Parts: sequence; C-alpha cells; structure tokens
Amino acid sequence: MTTTLITNIASLVTNDPAQGDGSPLGLLTDAAVVLDGETIAWVGPAHKAPAADTVHDARADAAIPGFVDSHSHLVFAGDRTQEFNARMSGRAYSAGGIRTTVAATRAATDAELEANVTHYLREALRQGTTTFETKSGYGLTTEDESRALRIAARHTDEVTFLGAHIVSPDYAEDPAAYVDLVTGEMLDACAPHARWIDVFCEKGAFDGDQARAILTAGKAKGLHPRIHANQLSYGPGVQLAVELDAASADHCTHLTDADVDALAQGDTVATLLPGAEFSTRAQWPDARRLLDAGVTVALSTDCNPGSSFTSSLPFCIALAVRDMGMTPDEALWSATAGGAAALRRTDIGTLREGTRADLALLDAPSHVHLAYRPGVPLVGEVWRKGERQV
Ligand SMILES: [Zn+2]
Repeated sequence: MTTTLITNIASLVTNDPAQGDGSPLGLLTDAAVVLDGETIAWVGPAHKAPAADTVHDARADAAIPGFVDSHSHLVFAGDRTQEFNARMSGRAYSAGGIRTTVAATRAATDAELEANVTHYLREALRQGTTTFETKSGYGLTTEDESRALRIAARHTDEVTFLGAHIVSPDYAEDPAAYVDLVTGEMLDACAPHARWIDVFCEKGAFDGDQARAILTAGKAKGLHPRIHANQLSYGPGVQLAVELDAASADHCTHLTDADVDALAQGDTVATLLPGAEFSTRAQWPDARRLLDAGVTVALSTDCNPGSSFTSSLPFCIALAVRDMGMTPDEALWSATAGGAAALRRTDIGTLREGTRADLALLDAPSHVHLAYRPGVPLVGEVWRKGERQV
C-alpha cells in the first residue's frame, strides 16, 4: 500500500478530542497526516511525522475532514426556477411543489437521472463533500422509486427510501391506499436497494400515525428510520423519531420544549438544513437552543430542486453561524462529525488512525474562514479514500 504524508498544515481539524487542545474539534497547529491506502495511518505535529512514500505540501493551509452531507435528494429531473422566482416574489412554499419534480422524474430516462446525480455529486465534491446520503421520493410508484434507489446505490452506500415524500398524485383521493402501497409492494421492491427509510411527517404530507406505520414497516424489512420532522409547523415527527430510535430528525425548525428534551435524551441527531429556510425565506431553526440542551446537531444541504438547490456545505456553515447561533467551530463539527453521527458512522467525519482518508484542504489558514469569508470558494483540494479528487 502506498503511503502519503500531507504536511505543513497550518491548522488541522481532526474532530478527535484526544488531539490538540482537547476541544471537540481536536485542533492541531503545524500538523501532518499520513494516508495509507484508503485510511488514515497517523495524525500529529508535523515535526514528529513518520516517513512516507510520497510527501505532499499543504502550503500552510488549513485541513478539515471531508464534509458528510447526510441529507440530499439528488435523483430527480427538471428544474423549478419559476417556482423559486415566484416565491421570491411573495408566494409561500407548500409541499405540493414536489409534484412538478415527480412528473419530470417519471418522464426522464435512467441515463438522464444518472447524469444528474453524477453532476451534482461532482459539484458537491468540489466543495469538500466526501460522503453523501441521498433519497428517492420523486417517483412515487413502485417502479420509479426502486429505479431511483438503484441509481443512487451506484454512487453511495447511504441510500434512503422516501416513497412517503408526499402522497402520490395518483392517490390524491385515497391517501390510506397510498400508505398501504408504500408499506407493502413498494417497500418490498425498494428495501433491497436502501439502508434507510424516511417519511415527510408534515401537514399536507403524512401525519404521525401514517409516519409511524411507514417507518415501522421499514424497520421490519431491515431499514433504519430517519424523518423529515417539524419543518413547516409543530408536529409529532421529532417525538416519533426518538420513539423509533431514528438516526436523525431532519429540519427541526418548529420545536416545543418537550421536543428538545426528547432529542437531548435519545440517540437521534437533529439535522438542520438552513438551505431550505434560506430558499423559502422561512424561520431559521434555533441551533443554539438545541446545542445548549445537549442535542447532537448535524448540518446538511437538503440539496433538491424545490426548496434548497444548494450542494454547498460551506454555504450552510456560513448560514448556521450568521443566523442560527452556531459558533464557527460548532458548525464545522456539525457538517463533518455531526453528519457522520446522523448516518451512525464512526469511520468518517473524524481524522484519526484507522478512519477513512477523506479530507479537504482550504485556501485559508483556518476553518473559521468558511464562515468569515462566505461565498468564497475556499476548498482547494479534496482527498477521498486516500486519492486526490480535486
Ligand atoms: Zn429533505
């Protein structure tokens, strides 16, 4: 196996509290890392670094773990520019806009969908994302949902069945029959291609009882739950997530004190998706309230063509720091180690001996610049599984 020493790192975020100052970021200055094949072999001060087959100079830049985007919707076709333009001219967002993308996605060929996924993955990689989760949810038929999952599974292990994104327009008069389909024939066809099952628990989508039925059926087929919860209004989603030991409750914009307490006591991560609030001019989730209560918080893009058409975690970090009460350190942790926690992964999001060699070098001396210099493309190099990709 070839080893590579990346040295002359001005500031290295490891997310390993055993390193550096003992903070959650495990921040090291004048640092180096050694990659051995796909994994990290060594992390520490540059002057103590062991020899390696090749040496790569980080030119006194900062290095961070590759971003872990634990929530995206990349298997889609079409575009919703007009809807965005209308909304920015004063119209409120409602869940029904998804139907536009459903029609375009059903009409697309496999090759078109695959090309779209590849395009947005490359875009995310250039911005430092080395792991991503993605979902179905724009097919809403057995055939179209399983097709989306098969395409997604060619690009990531973190694939989520979201047949319960909205009630299919084909079942508008009989939502109960659609729940029967999602928990029956559609689940049977989709479960072999997915790791996770998700539901949009919201007024206009699925209520608490329907969400419980869908996620419970998924668990019985070996899928693990995650939930779109409490995005547009207060509701049962977060409590249900904790009750079912979901890996993540996603959005968490409208929370009661009981919701926050439940998250603090359970193992469910609160995944915040500020691209959605930005793109819909909605109320920001209160990250400070969650963090002060002891909740584990992840930051993700929610990349989708309707409500959050960004693949940029640096952009989400800037929003989280500016508008959601997070410190730059907390936002960086949430977009890396937090995303890994939301996927229940320990091999990514942290740079320590044995974890996956996924990291980004920034054209900046510190990770703080990601929020300090918003909108500036600061990701200079991206290494994934020990190979330089960008
Ligand atoms: Zn989403």
